[in-house]
Amino acid sequence: MEDRFGRKIDYLRISVTDRCNLRCLYCMPPEGVKPKPRQEILRFEEILTVVEAALELGINRFRLTGGEPLLRKGIIPFIKAMALLPGIEDIAITTNGLLLPQLGEQLKEAGVRRLNISLDTINPEKYRKITGGGDFRTVWEGITTALELGFTPVKINVVALNQINDEEWADLARLTLDRPLHIRFIELMPVGTSWQLAGKNYVSCGQVKSEIEKKLGKLTPVTHIQGSGPAEYHRLPGAQGTIGFIHAMSNHFCASCNRLRLTADGKLRPCLHDRREVDVREAVRSGATGKELQELFHKALQLKPASYRQAAVAPAAGRGMAQIGG
Ligand code: SAM
Ligand code: SF4
Repeated sequence: MEDRFGRKIDYLRISVTDRCNLRCLYCMPPEGVKPKPRQEILRFEEILTVVEAALELGINRFRLTGGEPLLRKGIIPFIKAMALLPGIEDIAITTNGLLLPQLGEQLKEAGVRRLNISLDTINPEKYRKITGGGDFRTVWEGITTALELGFTPVKINVVALNQINDEEWADLARLTLDRPLHIRFIELMPVGTSWQLAGKNYVSCGQVKSEIEKKLGKLTPVTHIQGSGPAEYHRLPGAQGTIGFIHAMSNHFCASCNRLRLTADGKLRPCLHDRREVDVREAVRSGATGKELQELFHKALQLKPASYRQAAVAPAAGRGMAQIGG
């Protein structure tokens, strides 16, 4: 389907839960965010109904996120059921990786091919601090499990944080040398709880790249990466993996935005940076037909701004990434 600005929309990011087993400092306050009552969260069969409507509209690529998607009970049978829907092209997951050692194999069997794993540091003590208590060894085991099981590609999301992980950007980039890992640096976005942090610790991907080049030499641009989305990719000489930069703030990719989001509580959100949403939960629960659900998708598309600069209302007030589905 196409939006008012001629952008092809074929990608839906689905937040399957607003709960998480970490408290990353840019995503949640240390005490966590009070999760929504269970009855407000879409049941898996309700998500499948929304996915079926999306498929009818030509949206055929999906990413499961959250909160931490692997925490939700029943995620494996849900993915299996989703993978069987006619027309599904791709189911990917964004995860903090902590449950991959247990669930990696089942995810692969269920039909997931592509994984994004979040990791902002390779220093265990710093990992504990950034994530509010996470265990680095477990996520590293998750990453090695993902590689061993042959997920392709395995992308690592690193939020670039000035004065927090700046000394490690080159070390993180070096991880691509002897592993097929795609390390992607993401600019800190002032969403939800990270407004203050963004004022102090934001750094542009341009700066991250030049810091890496100072230490490791010039990066060579790479043109095609599977499911490359908004990232710009580079490679170190002889490296198995790549280094990506997601200029989420400095050089916005709104013109090529191809996505909608479905929040855990059943709202279609046309733009991460715009708080306007279209409720689909009530429609699903009152037995709306596929056609009626598709109309709600059209309504959401009408609200999709040309760029986050034209977003009608200030970003995400009251809702953090874990609730919207980062
Ligand atoms: N829990 C999973 C994880 O951490 O990968 C999935 C949900 S998380 C909200 C999805 C992605 O959003 C993560 O890679 C995280 O680093 C990123 N993220 C969260 N808050 C962010 C912010 N304020 N700016 C930039 N990226 C952010
Ligand atoms: Fe949880 Fe992911 Fe947010 Fe970290 S970034 S608190 S792992 S949802």
